[in-house]
Amino acid sequence: MHQPPTAAPSSPLAPYLRKAFLFLSSSPRLGRAVTDSRLAWRGARRFVAGQTVEQAIAVVRELNNQGLTASLDHLGENISRLEDARQTADAYLLAIDQICASGVRSGVSLKLTALGMDLGPEVAEEQLRRILAAAAKSQPVPFVRIDMEGSAYTEPTLALFHRVHADFARVGVVVQAYLYRTAGDVERLVAEGSGPRLCKGAYLEGPEVAWPRKEDVDASYLRLAGRLLSPASRDRGVYPALATHDPAIIEAVKQLASKLGISRDAFEFQMLYGIRRDLQLALVKEGYRVRVYVPYGRQWYPYFMRRLAERPENLAFVLRSLFSESRRT
Ligand SMILES: Cc1cc2nc3c(=O)[nH]c(=O)nc-3n(C[C@H](O)[C@H](O)[C@H](O)COP(=O)(O)OP(=O)(O)OC[C@H]3O[C@@H](n4cnc5c(N)ncnc54)[C@H](O)[C@@H]3O)c2cc1C
Repeated sequence: MHQPPTAAPSSPLAPYLRKAFLFLSSSPRLGRAVTDSRLAWRGARRFVAGQTVEQAIAVVRELNNQGLTASLDHLGENISRLEDARQTADAYLLAIDQICASGVRSGVSLKLTALGMDLGPEVAEEQLRRILAAAAKSQPVPFVRIDMEGSAYTEPTLALFHRVHADFARVGVVVQAYLYRTAGDVERLVAEGSGPRLCKGAYLEGPEVAWPRKEDVDASYLRLAGRLLSPASRDRGVYPALATHDPAIIEAVKQLASKLGISRDAFEFQMLYGIRRDLQLALVKEGYRVRVYVPYGRQWYPYFMRRLAERPENLAFVLRSLFSESRRT
């Protein structure tokens, strides 16, 4: 696979802003203050489909009409009370119910820390199994994707995934190209015939576990995408989900797929709601499958901060649109 051109950081301040936003994303106190601000919510709306499942389903229906599929994410993470873990699982049961009742084409994505991972893996497993059992009884069975969080959770998340995957077929996990360990994790997933979602990784990680330089992360992404699309992986039934907005990587994946003679429905691209809609629609027009990750709910603060960290210019965009909105009103 050819290497993407090395993207220069958009501003010399970008790496510092990235760290600052990622640091802020883990402050519960700031999170509580910001979540109650209507102004901040108006900024976050660019990336968050709404606060209720009905609003999220309406967004998914619109995406479906444009040829895109979706994965619904009920926002929330790092809960510390058993009651909250149960409530998160209940929210997913409702989402699955609504997906089936409305007939939209969507799966769900979830975070194990929202299901009680910090209280113990057995707590998260019990809630995850409730969700998987409800999904398995639905028609059609929605795909349940387990998001990957900070590196402290990588091992327990993969261990839990392998346990539930032994009992449920329509469940998958996420791997992050910035972690050194991921090549090994991908081998095990390929051996099991499980196609992961491959992303670059969105958390603040140290050089002892993750590549600090963007060029190295991009190169790792391409190596892993190459492995997931290889004939050996396809022979095992692997269906990869390539999650990125990076045009150079998307182009490289398209070229590799065409060189290997892989049909456009044998894998999918995934992107986040509100980001590069132009690219999402262009890919659909070319005949590729594109799934949009659609977050909704009240706990949008850490998710919003991570989106600002990925592209600090978003802050200027959000502030500009709030300013022009307030002038209009
Ligand atoms: C469907 C999906 C699911 C994900 N799930 C996880 C997960 O489970 N765990 C995890 O750690 N990470 C997850 N991520 C986030 C991912 O790890 C990256 O942080 C994020 O996708 C940005 O990386 P990139 O591949 O788009 O490339 P980058 O090199 O960061 O960006 C490439 C280009 O994409 C555009 N872009 C990227 N981000 C933004 C943004 N926020 N706003 C506007 N434009 C932007 C810009 O044009 C940028 O130049 C997910 C991403 C996607 C798309």
